[in-house]
Amino acid sequence: TALPFFRDTWVEVDLNAISSNVSSLARFYKSQGHNVAIMAVVKANAYGHGAIAVAKEALAAGATFLGVALLDEALELRKAGIQAPILVLGKTRPENAELARSEGISVTVFEQEWLEEATRFLAKSPNDPLRIHVKMDTGMGRLGQQTVENTMAVVCAAQKIGVVEGLFTHFATADELDHTYYRKQQERFAACVDKLEEANVSIPFIHTGNSAASMRYPGDMYNMVRFGISMYGLTPSVEIKQALPFKLIPALSLKTKTVFTKLIQKGDAVSYGATYQAEAPTWIATLPIGYADGWARQNSTKGGYALVNGQTARFAGRICMDQCMIELSEPVPNGTTVTLVGKDGQEQIELDDVAKRLDTINYEAACMLNPRLPRIYV
Ligand code: PLP
Repeated sequence: TALPFFRDTWVEVDLNAISSNVSSLARFYKSQGHNVAIMAVVKANAYGHGAIAVAKEALAAGATFLGVALLDEALELRKAGIQAPILVLGKTRPENAELARSEGISVTVFEQEWLEEATRFLAKSPNDPLRIHVKMDTGMGRLGQQTVENTMAVVCAAQKIGVVEGLFTHFATADELDHTYYRKQQERFAACVDKLEEANVSIPFIHTGNSAASMRYPGDMYNMVRFGISMYGLTPSVEIKQALPFKLIPALSLKTKTVFTKLIQKGDAVSYGATYQAEAPTWIATLPIGYADGWARQNSTKGGYALVNGQTARFAGRICMDQCMIELSEPVPNGTTVTLVGKDGQEQIELDDVAKRLDTINYEAACMLNPRLPRIYV
């Protein structure tokens, strides 16, 4: 159960949007005559949306695997009673292999040394072996062996201490219009899969695709896809926004309520540095959200605005730690809802718009909204 909260600023997550995006992906694959398992990527508190609620919704909508970055994140899901398979996509400490095994959490492995080290900690458990996904680096340059031979060697060594449940890689450019680098990575991985088949090594889950690859190259996907950003209804990049195979529904809104409204006069200043000065009498409303919530100071520059009663309202002056101000065309009662991300009437502010103001990507704009903001599920 969620903790009570006493502030008038919150992240609103539309769980129907999550399930609709998962269902759309499943329907898309069905239409392609291609069966894939869906891993719902819920790392980083489900990209700021709330890991437990999103994981449950995604599983109910047909996802069968969960992906997280850290063992800690996997354990949080187990603690919440979620029993579905979970893969830790980042490195787990070898000394925590036994904890992962006993909780039925799959780990990512990419070095023989890790396996040797982990063996020292693993309990003998023929019925419940450690579940391992071996990661190959085909061009991301992050985790994994770069050659087929070395990857095969990790797979063989992994089979001796646990069960190799998966083989995977990660694409660096699947969200770019140019396919060249993607193809190179895909071919390197395919060579590894071929070698394993030749060697009669059977691995249940072979997976490569993030959201971008899973939506753009369904024919290349093996039997599982790792669906992250687009499960939240967001495009993997602005570049491919118009080239997606189905409509995505954004799940996240960020809302607050006005706490004070006043009329200021020509020449009156607002906020630190007194950088904003009214050019005429102007209504100013104060909002109880600031950069300590992850609402970055850059939101007030580059034309940043909020929505009030279906109208746009520009930020006035610098965003403070816990508060910020907006310009209004007319006064509103205290407690009027203000939308910082999401829809209000005909207007909509997308996380892509926030990302643009912040010179970053929607992924970061979502993850920035920190735990001080309560999450409400609708
Ligand atoms: N797989 C891995 C290994 C990842 O690191 C990520 C996230 O960055 C994903 C899948 C999900 O990617 P996306 O959010 O682009 O769908």
